[in-house]
Amino acid sequence: MRLPLEETLVVLGEGRKIIITAHVNPDGDAIGSCLALSRYLENQGKETVVLIDDEVPKGFMLLPGADKIAAPEEGRSYEADLLVVLDSSLDRIGKVAEAVKAQVLNIDHHHTNDGQAERLYLDGERAATAEIIYQLLEMAGAAFDKEMAMALYTGLATDTGFFRFSNTNPLTMRAAARMLEAGAEPHVISESLEQRPYSHVKGLADALQHIEVWHGGRAAGAFLSYEVMEGIESTEGLIDMLRVIEGVEIVVVMKYKEADKARVSLRSKGIDVSAVALKFGGGGHVKAAGCGIEKPFGEAKSLLQQAIDQALSPTDPAEAVKESGEEK
Ligand code: AMP
Ligand code: MN
Ligand code: MN
Repeated sequence: MRLPLEETLVVLGEGRKIIITAHVNPDGDAIGSCLALSRYLENQGKETVVLIDDEVPKGFMLLPGADKIAAPEEGRSYEADLLVVLDSSLDRIGKVAEAVKAQVLNIDHHHTNDGQAERLYLDGERAATAEIIYQLLEMAGAAFDKEMAMALYTGLATDTGFFRFSNTNPLTMRAAARMLEAGAEPHVISESLEQRPYSHVKGLADALQHIEVWHGGRAAGAFLSYEVMEGIESTEGLIDMLRVIEGVEIVVVMKYKEADKARVSLRSKGIDVSAVALKFGGGGHVKAAGCGIEKPFGEAKSLLQQAIDQALSPTDPAEAVKESGEEK
């Protein structure tokens, strides 16, 4: 059931013990939204736990409370009044889905959200889930402290490419300005997120050896097989290097994850890549999407390239992936 914002606040107010989660492979929006909501609810005298079924990348450890984010323990069952799922639909929260016994409240900004949650607040117009959390807390008359401000600013900044992408809107800027007033330090956040080991930067140079363009230069990708991934610590930042290639409309990074499983990130300048990701059971936004493909690497690569070709040159109008000038 889709809830209005007011109802969402009421539901949050009813729970006493609240578990908060977000998608696996968590990004700044997932982590920042969880931490800010947790902090607010704790200030309201509630007991909260942030459970994310994955590692928190090192760069986010500067956020207060990030060190307390835990993955669900094997075989343990968690009881709570409410499970709040942020920045994700219920199928992308890993083991948290089975481990937690509670009513579910889902808050998200992905228009591809599958709507499976009993209660869902979804606003695809918002640049980040952090923007929705800001609206909620603002409506609640919350006193934003530095901890919340750092967390929400991180979510706003990371989902908008530090306020550069087309999803950046007046509310993003208002929310960010409010977070600065409440003590957020943008340079501290961006410096922490930018830091990477020497070996990672060297690894990126290797990954760049494996980029290719196709479809008359309208598509570019880095296809990183098992052999290549062995020498690369992280591909963070690689997709942004591809985005700048002149003439390119869709870019993709596909990397070997495990046997018969590849992880895909897609970006575009306007063609709907969430429709491409949806074909493989993933999702996202018009200009930024992702999915996993459970196929041998070579097969996954050709299926993905075909889907991208189809998006770039739709032949069957019924199948046509719609072109859109909007981000979300
Ligand atoms: P990423 O390439 O991981 O930065 O993801 C780009 C966008 O697509 C983000 O908004 C993600 O939340 C979303 N996304 C990535 N993978 C998936 C997936 N498997 N299912 C749904 N949405 C996804
Ligand atoms: Mn996210
Ligand atoms: Mn997000």
